[in-house]
Amino acid sequence: MSEPVLYIVATPIGNLADLSDRARDVLASVDHVAAEDTRHSGRLLSHFNIKVPMISVHDHNERQRAEHVINLLRAGESVALVSDAGTPLISDPGYHLVRAVREAGFKVSPVPGCCAFVAALSASGLPSDRFQFIGFLPAKSGARQQALEALAGNTETLVFYESTHRIVDSLKAMTAAFGAERYAVVARELTKTFETLHGDSLDNLVTWIQADTNQQRGEFVVLVQGAEKVLDDESIDPEAERILRILARELPPKKAAGVAAEITGYKKNRLYPLLID
Ligand code: SAM
Repeated sequence: MSEPVLYIVATPIGNLADLSDRARDVLASVDHVAAEDTRHSGRLLSHFNIKVPMISVHDHNERQRAEHVINLLRAGESVALVSDAGTPLISDPGYHLVRAVREAGFKVSPVPGCCAFVAALSASGLPSDRFQFIGFLPAKSGARQQALEALAGNTETLVFYESTHRIVDSLKAMTAAFGAERYAVVARELTKTFETLHGDSLDNLVTWIQADTNQQRGEFVVLVQGAEKVLDDESIDPEAERILRILARELPPKKAAGVAAEITGYKKNRLYPLLID
């Protein structure tokens, strides 16, 4: 009998032809498919004529279900984990399951494929050598703004997931946090009929998306160019100055200059005079 394995299987993010042959073979050969939403993934399996018993593993039952999956593996049965779309565990459930299964000593094997942010980044034209994947921002506006402000000085490309309900508010919040001129790309409905990749300054993106409600529909990845790192002692990057001024609202000038120096890379004694002036 072959060794039981928990396979982590990526599924399409829109275009069913993106399911790899290997993913198909694995899904057809395992004893159970663990899915975030068994009805949703059931439709994918029936499309490919795959009939395998399904187990539901979602955010709310993942820890208990891990024990069940481990028992199946102990009985010599293999399991494939899928999520609704793309790669499981990427802004999707599965982390607790994978951890528990590995700790129980069983093999976990990835079957890679689609992932929305990788697809978006690969076609965005934004620097991809260093990037930070943020995923979904907090739903509440205060927490979201705070999360964005904390990222304003990052020089790497920032990658966010966003839903149709919040895309406009999030782009507005990004404009406030990163500055109107910051370049960003909205990647919508990737691999689907209405796939759109549109890049512009954040304030132009807000105008563009508000002008056309069709552009507000579907699933989104938002990619924001990192802050420019200007370490020239003569001039101060406006983004660094903005961070300095936000901090100065809450902190005494010396402290604000010190924290801003840490975030932006400028010397504290280059920033401090700006507050005194
Ligand atoms: N595990 C998935 C992956 O590998 O990308 C992500 C799951 S997360 C719950 C769903 C989010 O991914 C959506 O709200 C959207 O931000 C993004 N997404 C998924 N499919 C997409 C698509 N076809 N085009 C653009 N974004 C997509």
